[in-house]
Amino acid sequence: MRQSKLFTKTRREPPADEVAKNAQLLVRAGYIHKEMAGVYDFLPLGLRTLNKIIGIIREEMNAIDGEEVFLSTLQDPKIWEKSGRWDDDVVDVWFKTRLKNGNELGLGNTHEEALTALMSEHIASYKDLPRYVYQFQNKFRNETRAKSGIMRAREFIMKDLYSFSKDSASHNEFYEKVAGAYENIFERVGIGAKTYRTFASGGSFSKYSHEYQTVCTAGEDTIYIDSTKRLALNKEVYDDTEVYAVTGMDKESLTEAKAIEVGNIFTLGTRFSEALGLSYKDVEGRSVPVFMGSYGIGPGRLMGAIVELTADEKGLVWPEAVAPFSVHLVSLGQTDDEIKKMADALYSDLVNAGIDVLYDDRDLRAGEKFVESDLLGIPRRIVVGKNAVATGAFEIIERATGAVMKRSRAELLTK
Ligand code: ATP
Ligand code: MG
Repeated sequence: MRQSKLFTKTRREPPADEVAKNAQLLVRAGYIHKEMAGVYDFLPLGLRTLNKIIGIIREEMNAIDGEEVFLSTLQDPKIWEKSGRWDDDVVDVWFKTRLKNGNELGLGNTHEEALTALMSEHIASYKDLPRYVYQFQNKFRNETRAKSGIMRAREFIMKDLYSFSKDSASHNEFYEKVAGAYENIFERVGIGAKTYRTFASGGSFSKYSHEYQTVCTAGEDTIYIDSTKRLALNKEVYDDTEVYAVTGMDKESLTEAKAIEVGNIFTLGTRFSEALGLSYKDVEGRSVPVFMGSYGIGPGRLMGAIVELTADEKGLVWPEAVAPFSVHLVSLGQTDDEIKKMADALYSDLVNAGIDVLYDDRDLRAGEKFVESDLLGIPRRIVVGKNAVATGAFEIIERATGAVMKRSRAELLTK
């Protein structure tokens, strides 16, 4: 992509109304736009990164036999009344609206009810199980606090996967597969080393659920880490003696840390299948409620967490796998025929080699271009200026380390 065609502008100053580092930097770099508190738009660069994160999650969900769907945002109160979750005293984050005839509708804050009701038209026998269904869909939540930037939005994309199993034993097997997939995801987006499988409170069917918590000072949660076991406890279960028996963790040797909940996995059991009439006939022809689980990840929260962990004083620093582009090609002489020709040629060479390149083909001062390039955080910058024309070698600067290399065109293309 040519930067002259990119409509977004960068800003020198962080927006005055934003306290979270992730939102300050992403707004400054033109990745997102703030509509209002807790509501953000993704602009071309931000959307590229968001889509890379979504792509990685999708690959891992497909690898464990997930089937992708896209359910509606508008939700029928009837199914929520069946599960007892329409009431604002039960779910305190509802956004509700009305049809012209006065009937109420909800904007989905999660999709257990909708999907369970839907699956009852497709699951009838033990032969129809297990099934694993997921989506990337907007959730609407009237969150009280919205000061963590894109990590806590009132409208946000969630990857939500739901599992439908015969019994708790086959459920448990899949649950561990999801745990493995989640670990792959956090590793691939570059936050694996800081992310812990964390025991948290579970709800009606299992004593505990698991959260994936990424250690970060900007986190809203407090966790206690056992670094040898690579496990953690959420503060909410810290004083529960049973959790130490279950996990083999020693309360005395845990370290406290602030963390961001980037994902969670949850055993639902028959809580929703019983309420919404999702059952199957077993081998003997008896009717049995389907055993369920739900598994969430917020791609936007993940993107915010990556920014919180990797950004430096100059701006964003994207890990390769989620960077909007892998190369920032910066030309330092759009008015110099030789430089322009060399930069144009390298741009088409790189694009033809299948590399994602952002080409700064604008007529601006070098200093201005470099400051902006640092802010955008693309993993490496290739500079084409007088020097490259004279020597035939291009300067490559690694964004994360500042390391500088010189490479010829041929060397560049073989790497
Ligand atoms: P939290 O305790 O942080 O509010 P939650 O328990 O409400 O999270 P879930 O309902 O299980 O979270 O949602 C699944 C995932 O969706 C979370 O792990 C997180 O990654 C993401 N998520 C939840 N709420 C938000 C939000 N307001 N903005 C962005 N992402 C969110
Ligand atoms: Mg919440």
